[in-house]
Amino acid sequence: MSYNKALNNPIFKIIAQASKELNIDSYVIGGFVRDFILERDFKKDIDVVAVGSGIDLALKVSELLPNKPKVQVFKNYGTAMLRYKEIDIEFVGARKESYTQDSRNPVVENGSLEDDQNRRDFTINALAFSLNEKDYGTLVDPFNGLEDIKNKIIKTPLNPDITYSDDPLRMMRAIRFATQLKFEIESESLSAIERNKERIKIISGERIVDELNKILSTDKPSIGFLHLYQTGLLEIILPELTALNNVEEVEGHTHKNNFYHTLEVVDNICPNTEDVWLRWAALLHDIGKAPTKRFSPKQGWTFHGHEFLGGKMAKKIFERLHMPLNHKMKFVQKMVMMSSRPIVLAQDIVTDSAVRRLVFDAGEDVDDLMTLCEADITTKNPSKFKKYHNNFNIVRKKIVEVEERDHVRQFQPPISGEEIMALFGLKPSREIGMLKEAVKEAILEGDIPNEYQAAYDFVIAKAKKMGLKVTK
Ligand code: ATP
Repeated sequence: MSYNKALNNPIFKIIAQASKELNIDSYVIGGFVRDFILERDFKKDIDVVAVGSGIDLALKVSELLPNKPKVQVFKNYGTAMLRYKEIDIEFVGARKESYTQDSRNPVVENGSLEDDQNRRDFTINALAFSLNEKDYGTLVDPFNGLEDIKNKIIKTPLNPDITYSDDPLRMMRAIRFATQLKFEIESESLSAIERNKERIKIISGERIVDELNKILSTDKPSIGFLHLYQTGLLEIILPELTALNNVEEVEGHTHKNNFYHTLEVVDNICPNTEDVWLRWAALLHDIGKAPTKRFSPKQGWTFHGHEFLGGKMAKKIFERLHMPLNHKMKFVQKMVMMSSRPIVLAQDIVTDSAVRRLVFDAGEDVDDLMTLCEADITTKNPSKFKKYHNNFNIVRKKIVEVEERDHVRQFQPPISGEEIMALFGLKPSREIGMLKEAVKEAILEGDIPNEYQAAYDFVIAKAKKMGLKVTK
């Protein structure tokens, strides 16, 4: 069967022409072929393998293109890349790889197309379309990848123990593809991952996180996290999460399994957001529960302070996995630390002042915090489920009302410290701090509106009680 239809982008004819002029064979390989067969969205990234020099082929292709795009050459890797109409095209010479025990960087030699397909991670990623005159558009499929796509199976071309041990990142990739594509991982492969799990330790945090982010960006990340858990990888990468997987019983009291609960929360958040950081917040929102868990006959199971500890643990995880320690980390930490606040609200009568305080503390992130907390409702009791959601709707409405009236989301004191100092002829001091704090509290409590005149009158009255005299 010919796949000419897949190759209707004019760039393929040009690559074919360039290969012909250089007298080498070339193929489109990997994700492009897989995604075409799967009828998945085209992902603007094409991999071309040349049986010869990938760099020479890229240079020739650029020469044949009207605008002669710049070719980025990565000499050390024997690869080159150019951009054609927003599409990145990567050229690589067909290669044969052999691995050593302590590194995922192989020793590389030139090889045939077959050698190159052998080194690919999965049968579904080893498929190639020919760009050669003699069989243009033919699928080259030595490992029955097409069949595996139809059967929705992730499987390695060679012995999985060798494939995973050679480059342990492939274990994460297998699980990531299974999650993205909703494919099964072949059972031989799954047990090979289990056997080789310790090898993940040679992979950098950045690469592991890349894969975790891709899993977290799917519509059902729990598929991936369950695989990570069952293969033992999660215990190595995020032991803070696996520590949540238990249920204890004392005197007939149990608590919920916070690991499975967490996965439900992460899944719940997915349809509503593109933001991977909110999903990280969902993933980590209960990690403080394992170390804070206590039982007392009076209160049953408690997790006092788990939010605060969880926030601190989140930062440590970011550090350990070499994740960004910038505002993204701060956001995740803040979400974890505040993750119970709206819940407490939603269980009670929702007062304006409680909502005002919530908006003040969460600031610009208050909507994300609400999304996280709504996702956190995993109760299987329909009446409780309904009640909590109704209350959250009330909280959301009140957030809008309170914000329109009081503008506390980006709180600016209506009367400045300088003005208060000038009024009483004081330098920065404890009294000034107390007056500023009192103004803020009065606004959050709803005693005065967030307006200049009201704040001015309030300061004068409060200062009088403190024995201060207006000097101005
Ligand atoms: P996506 O872009 O969705 O991640 P992709 O398959 O294009 O999918 P890339 O990471 O761009 O993924 O890799 C391109 C191709 O290179 C893969 O299809 C696969 O053939 C090969 N490949 C990538 N990483 C590895 C690896 N660690 N081991 C073996 N082959 C790999």
